[in-house]
Amino acid sequence: MHFPLPLALIHEPGQSQFNARFTRHFDHQSIISPKIRDLISTPGLGWQAVSLTSRDGTRAEVYAQAMPVPNGKILVFGESEQVMHDVEIDQLRKRIADLEKVSSTDYLTGAWNRAHLVRVVASEMARSIRFRQPLSALLIDLDHFKNVNDTHGHQAGDTVLRELVALIQQKIRTADQLFRWGGEEFVVLAVSTGHRDAETLAEHLRGRIASHKFTGVGPLTVSIGVAERSGDESADAWFKRLDTALFNAKNSGRNRIVIDRHGDSDKWVAEGGLAALRLVWRDSYACGEPRIDAEHRELFDLANDLIQTALPGSEQNMATIDEALTALVKHLEQHFKHEEEILAERGYARLEEHCNAHIRLLRKTEELRAAAISSGSASFGALIDFLATDVVARHLFTADRDYYPLFQNNKT
Ligand code: GH3
Ligand code: MG
Ligand code: MG
Repeated sequence: MHFPLPLALIHEPGQSQFNARFTRHFDHQSIISPKIRDLISTPGLGWQAVSLTSRDGTRAEVYAQAMPVPNGKILVFGESEQVMHDVEIDQLRKRIADLEKVSSTDYLTGAWNRAHLVRVVASEMARSIRFRQPLSALLIDLDHFKNVNDTHGHQAGDTVLRELVALIQQKIRTADQLFRWGGEEFVVLAVSTGHRDAETLAEHLRGRIASHKFTGVGPLTVSIGVAERSGDESADAWFKRLDTALFNAKNSGRNRIVIDRHGDSDKWVAEGGLAALRLVWRDSYACGEPRIDAEHRELFDLANDLIQTALPGSEQNMATIDEALTALVKHLEQHFKHEEEILAERGYARLEEHCNAHIRLLRKTEELRAAAISSGSASFGALIDFLATDVVARHLFTADRDYYPLFQNNKT
């Protein structure tokens, strides 16, 4: 509302909102011009000359640019070409990135919220099936939490929830994600984890929480339901099994875990796991930006070459594996650089976050590579798994997907 430049927020179905500065200077109707409509449908073009109608009825020649936001586009107006307002625009980008995070985050605890869980579950399920990597969920519910509120007050209850989130965050891997499901119930999504490993994690969490003294409240316990996604079931069917497992944990006395032992992890291991993996490019993976698409395709090819060198049947020759690895890492570094340049040009709101993800992926790759080289070819499995699933699959199907709307107009 108080942004120093005129702004219009255009929602998808043709509704608009305006900030105070826009309303003070311009007629709301004047954003319905063909020129501005073009701008909205092709965000990321930078400043373009457009005309608006001033409040006094005269025409105002201004400059405008459009930026994609979760539910539409933001139009920013600048008074002249000379004043490029880059500082303000940067501020706006940062604010959009913050807003996007807030809309995925639970205010009280800082965990991801349920809306975000729905999005992440969809992409993780697709990844799990495609890459034959198991996916498990834990549903964690505080026991007799109502008593905490009744005895110590709501504020003490809030503190317990925050402490619980901090405890769980400390115990899960960075790839796993924690969501507030609602009230005093939380979900941990454990990637590349079958029901056996999920059971170990759940028992670990239960024990850790039971031994913790919550501030001003003392010890509390949790009950946990555990389920691995199975066959071709929907997210709803999977979470129904998860909910039943938690219900059974509550009913059998609380402070315990119950596992639903279905899932594909055993079958996938029997079929050779990683060895059976091959990345197949589909047209729907293209974002519409030719250079990015060509490089993503090449990434698939190079990852397949690498997987090939590590198949159980093939001679697991260190030099061959290392050669394939070097080619993939080199391509990856170059590709990340190009992608960052292209996204910067397009004014991508979450560029900084995306660059940081690139840095983390490259750093982890180097760590695993150093570990594999020092301990022999057997441990290349972890590195290859990381490259195929975390770098190529997860990053491409989640982080990269986030910028695809920037290039939607290029797609035919
Ligand atoms: P059970 O062992 O069966 O899970 O018992 P319970 O008391 O934990 O479960 P119940 O569902 O009966 O009560 C949950 C309580 O959690 C009631 C509600 O007031 C409290 N609660 C939900 N959200 C919040 C919150 O954000 N802050 C606080 N302080 N309490 C909350
Ligand atoms: Mg509950
Ligand atoms: Mg409870």
